Amino acid sequence: MTVYADNAATTKISKAALNEILPYFEEIYGNPSSGHSAGRKAAIAVRNARKDIADIIGASPDEIFFTSSGTESDNQAILSAAKIGAEKGKKHIVSTAVEHHAVLNTLSFLKERGFEITFLYPSKDGLVTAEQVKKAIRGDTCLVSVMYANNEIGTVMPVSEIGRICREKNVLFFSDAVAAAGYLPIDVKSQNIDMLSMSAHKFHGPKGCGILYRRKGTDIFPLIRGGSQEKGLRAGTENVPAIIGTAAALRESYENYSEKTKKLLFLRDALIDGFAEIPHSALNGGRENRLAGNVNFSFEGIEGESLLVLLDTKGICASSGSACTSFSSEPSHVLTAIGREKELADASLRLTLSAENTADEVSYIIKTVKESVEFLRSLSQPFKDKSSGKRKFIL
Ligand SMILES: *Cc1c(COP(=O)(O)O)cnc(C)c1O
Repeated sequence: MTVYADNAATTKISKAALNEILPYFEEIYGNPSSGHSAGRKAAIAVRNARKDIADIIGASPDEIFFTSSGTESDNQAILSAAKIGAEKGKKHIVSTAVEHHAVLNTLSFLKERGFEITFLYPSKDGLVTAEQVKKAIRGDTCLVSVMYANNEIGTVMPVSEIGRICREKNVLFFSDAVAAAGYLPIDVKSQNIDMLSMSAHKFHGPKGCGILYRRKGTDIFPLIRGGSQEKGLRAGTENVPAIIGTAAALRESYENYSEKTKKLLFLRDALIDGFAEIPHSALNGGRENRLAGNVNFSFEGIEGESLLVLLDTKGICASSGSACTSFSSEPSHVLTAIGREKELADASLRLTLSAENTADEVSYIIKTVKESVEFLRSLSQPFKDKSSGKRKFIL
């Protein structure tokens, strides 16, 4: 059996999105900036896609910008807020220690250029509170950047409350919603979100298409200069097929939304309950306020990397954390930030499901993970030492 359970790394494109994309390679291939009929057809399609996306998140079309990735959207939002802030002498940013590297490394870049960053640490359940944000905001704060959902442990931050506080304090609020879009409701107006990023390939759209929402009246600045596409704020000929596919995939992900969420929750909870039977193991992040498809577990006494390799040989595609960092030997910054010991952070497994996964696949995963953990523990000196009482178990 082969099972793909790494949907936080990327997803398979949906059939509906793929079908909508294909004509834009062969038939409607005009450049949206061209004045002739071929160009106009492409321009109309992009305009409709923009409107569909705006409608879904409660924005207006002129607040939606297409970029190349979630990463680019994150960079543009944060660097724009920093530029405006610096012009007003405000060089303090509030964020969290568990953001994606697209946010964290952009903040490091700003830190090297004289910005001060306050990183909020979540509690063990993986959540930061609006109260923490409120306390961290200062007179010189130019931006609060808090992700909607965490991509490693799936925890869902209280963005509506944080938005309300930022509005009260008149501070810009940006949310990296790349892990949330398609899986959680988004309404930028009622949630008081000034800027928000999404990425198509995380919700069954094509790779290489990001979205940046920015509230009217909030200035953003181009990272890429050239032609007047995207109102001059993101130059370069539009990736028309990807934009069409992005809108189709986002629409589809909110169709039958409650059914899909229910199914994901059922599968996720089966996995969590199955893994909980493995002694000396624990779920990372709380079970409440968690994405419906996310399971992240630590199994004491094993190396997560070895477990991944073993699972791969048995047809299971999983992850130890973020795909973007899986080639680094550092333990997950998210697991360490929520207080997991390095040893347990290194012993982690992340499974992220899509509505295409089945109950049979979940049973196979549980059985295979149980056997694999047992096998790896039988080879593990630390586990033997702990079992014989020479050392103490953490879990
Ligand atoms: C995947 C991801 C990103 C990066 O998006 P790309 O489109 O892959 O560049 C940013 N933030 C979060 C939370 C993500 O999960």
